Amino acid sequence: MAVASPIAFSAVTSAARLTDSHGRVIHDLRVSITDRCNYKCVYCRTGEVGAQYPELDIEEYLRLIKLFVSLGIEKVRLTGGEPLLRPGLLELIKELGRLRTLSGEPLDLALTTNGHLLEGLAAPLKAAGLQRATVSMDAVDAPTFERITRVPGSFNKVLAGIRAARNAGLTPLKINCVLLRGFNDDQIESFAHFAREEDVVVRFIEFMPLEEGRLWTPEIVVPMAEIVERIGRVLQLVPLPARDAGETARRFTFADGRGEIGIIAPVTQAFCGACSRVRLTSDGKIRTCLFSQVEHDLYGHMRAGESDNELRDYIARTVQGKEARHHIGEPGFLKPSRSMVHIGG
Ligand code: SAM
Repeated sequence: MAVASPIAFSAVTSAARLTDSHGRVIHDLRVSITDRCNYKCVYCRTGEVGAQYPELDIEEYLRLIKLFVSLGIEKVRLTGGEPLLRPGLLELIKELGRLRTLSGEPLDLALTTNGHLLEGLAAPLKAAGLQRATVSMDAVDAPTFERITRVPGSFNKVLAGIRAARNAGLTPLKINCVLLRGFNDDQIESFAHFAREEDVVVRFIEFMPLEEGRLWTPEIVVPMAEIVERIGRVLQLVPLPARDAGETARRFTFADGRGEIGIIAPVTQAFCGACSRVRLTSDGKIRTCLFSQVEHDLYGHMRAGESDNELRDYIARTVQGKEARHHIGEPGFLKPSRSMVHIGG
């Protein structure tokens, strides 16, 4: 794929920006580029099923992402499955690095990875134009970590990946940890020290009912209040102000300003009212909410030969119908038909 000059979409008026019927402006797109994964995290996959959905060509993802950017998307996060498994990733990032938002800024380009292949890829990813990375890591001791990933040797690979990403300048480097009571909730305090020692942002995320099996219960969720209370017993936490109204993480630093902790609490303190996000699955379906019961076959419309303008209309109409909020924990709540690994976390 040839790399040419930046592509701007400033001809599109602000009236064309994506909004939904609840008055939210949508400027954040998550794109899954594969639903294959090299880990079998116990809270995510049963280990019995592998990839379930087809992948598009890299050029097809690029065309669809460009359409979203021309409608006001400012931030694109590549995910999966495990995105580092996907051939063509570096070429895709190079092309996305050329895109400009409606206001003429470079796209905010990020990637979520389990970090297993990151040691060798961090520098090439940075050179291709990736700005930031988030690495998932659910324990800071090797035995607990490998009990969760079910891959021997994975802890040292991920640690090396984290250090390589930080050295390559994929910063601020965020580490996402999903906490489950009885699995890894003994790691909370150690993660606070890890944030300081490794100079990374550690974000704890409440477990959501998006697993392949049937593990989720309200009791397995470790709520934000408990995390804050437990870290506060060993280190003094200093709250950081929100950078914008849509910020999903409640952020804290420590008394000496070294290290940062964030807590994302979609279950106990849902932030749907400020949601600015839609998702594109690896097979080209739009999901307007993690918990959507319906998917919208954007790729099907593209394959049928629709023009860019027709596809833009389809995207805009679809996003208008974005759900007001999720209903986790309410009577009648239904898990979506796809689990997290197949949606794109
Ligand atoms: N393979 C990449 C990785 O590990 O970061 C990207 C995909 S993974 C599905 C994205 C994130 O979703 C990971 O941080 C993972 O821990 C998180 N995740 C998976 N299942 C979850 C659940 N049920 N609730 C909350 N987060 C979940």
